[in-house]
Amino acid sequence: MGTLRLVLGDQLSESLASLREVDAKQDLILICEVMQEATYVKHHKKKIAFLFSAMRHFGEELRERGLRVRYVKLDDAENTGSLEGEVGRAVRELEPERLVLTEPGEYRVLEMFRGWERKFGLPVEILGDSRFLCSISAFRKWAHGKKQLRMEFFYREMRKRYDLLMEPDGKPVGGEWNYDKQNRKPPRAGMHSPNRIGHARSGITTEVLALVERRFGDHFGVLEPFQFAVTRDEALKEMRHFIAKLLPAFGDYQDAMVMGEAYLYHSLLSCYLNAGLLLPLEVCESAQAAYRLGEAPLNAVEGFIRQILGWREFVRGIYWTHMPSYAELNFFEAKRPLPEFYWSGKTRMVCLAEAVKHTQQHAYSHHIQRLMVTGNFALLAGLDPAEVCEWYLLVYADAYEWVELPNTLGMALFGDGGIMGSKPYAASGKYIHRMSNYCQQCSYDPGVTVGEGACPFNSLYWDFMARNEGKLRGNQRMPYVFSTWEKMGPGQQKAIRERAETVLENMKKGLL
Ligand SMILES: Cc1cc2nc3c(=O)[nH]c(=O)nc-3n(C[C@H](O)[C@H](O)[C@H](O)COP(=O)(O)OP(=O)(O)OC[C@H]3O[C@@H](n4cnc5c(N)ncnc54)[C@H](O)[C@@H]3O)c2cc1C
Ligand code: SF4
Repeated sequence: MGTLRLVLGDQLSESLASLREVDAKQDLILICEVMQEATYVKHHKKKIAFLFSAMRHFGEELRERGLRVRYVKLDDAENTGSLEGEVGRAVRELEPERLVLTEPGEYRVLEMFRGWERKFGLPVEILGDSRFLCSISAFRKWAHGKKQLRMEFFYREMRKRYDLLMEPDGKPVGGEWNYDKQNRKPPRAGMHSPNRIGHARSGITTEVLALVERRFGDHFGVLEPFQFAVTRDEALKEMRHFIAKLLPAFGDYQDAMVMGEAYLYHSLLSCYLNAGLLLPLEVCESAQAAYRLGEAPLNAVEGFIRQILGWREFVRGIYWTHMPSYAELNFFEAKRPLPEFYWSGKTRMVCLAEAVKHTQQHAYSHHIQRLMVTGNFALLAGLDPAEVCEWYLLVYADAYEWVELPNTLGMALFGDGGIMGSKPYAASGKYIHRMSNYCQQCSYDPGVTVGEGACPFNSLYWDFMARNEGKLRGNQRMPYVFSTWEKMGPGQQKAIRERAETVLENMKKGLL
């Protein structure tokens, strides 16, 4: 036969590099569900179901286009259970001339790809993943020689390169590059998440859901209700619905958190972008078109495009520029084990209980819950970054190491010491109080720092600063923090640190 072309579970795009120039008669496309990839961390049930269903639909679509597909299902008798095992089996049985791959989203897998030429004794071509808007080599070139990498400057370059929200004279539309100042509104009283669209459940999805329940029943999270789009057409419907109905308010309420409302005005598009059902440029261009037609305001559209064109590409660049040593970084030498409530949601801290509940139910929580609730708590409490990163990789439907690791280790935990961001996103309970209605229903008081009923975030915040003063005092963006701490005087400082000790003790005992 001709070429064997591997498509991974997050490479479900017809425009994928390894599917270009496919010879319908000679070549074979290999897609496989393997136990090793589904269990190397015990992914959320919904994540596995979403990916297996999307992979099966994608395989069918390729067949409908007249292409030859070897689709290996998890329960196939011959399935070896690993990616390498399945590629090896296909090579032995089919004797292809060469193997063509698209670069994966994980360093571990790239290392495996690099060993295949020798292992299988045939030419192996690893193509760049052109679905991203900044190639790994272009990012390295941009980063080269810079003392600090800042997303904002990278983003401006990307705006110019893709001519998104640009005036003909090369200036940003509206005169500013960034409208975030308008994007920090607290929730309105009685605010609810607008309705989302649903998708008719296909036979494939029904079959996959039964498989996941049977084989992954002990994994985190609940499987039903399952409302994910699993084909490109459905993902496009999700995108259009978001742009038409939700994007106008996306900017205003991007940071808001509301009891019982997991989604608010967020797009929920990350899992489709990351699996390849949607492409980043088409999503950015659709948002831009809504602005040009006067259907969505600039602060919302710019904020949304910045997440995809800026942050998403930036974190990928950070990942590939700094791996593999990046995964080992632990700037604060944090080592406390992850408390049980990250799994069970059983804590009196309403903000954390809500974030974990959304995560269990939807394999989703929005950015501010990830950053300022579960992430902020992990940072302040000094939780072991390896355990925290594993949690994030496991629980979210959109999690792949290239995007999860820099966001968790870098952005949320500042574990990389400042590669991703210029200062830790540490915050006391006041932030959560301002941006949510959680505190109104919490037995802790966000206005109090010491004593039994004090919000745990408050004492942990100061304890974190005091504990890490040697590492943070020199940070140019933090002098205000330490001057406030000093003004408190030894008596107040001692009381706060004692309260933090009690909080950490209670966390250990499961009493928080
Ligand atoms: C600790 C932590 C872990 C995270 N882990 C992941 C992860 O595993 N996978 C993932 O896709 N995102 C991750 N993010 C980024 C962000 O939280 C999610 O992309 C977002 O919540 C997805 O929901 P949405 O599609 O509704 O996003 P929206 O709020 O609607 O944003 C639009 C899109 O922008 C992109 N985006 C926004 N912020 C980021 C970011 N910081 N990095 C990359 N893309 C971004 C996403 O593609 C998203 O779909 C993480 C953030 C934090 C703080
Ligand atoms: S009081 Fe503190 S613990 Fe309770 S919801 Fe508010 S921020 Fe969270």
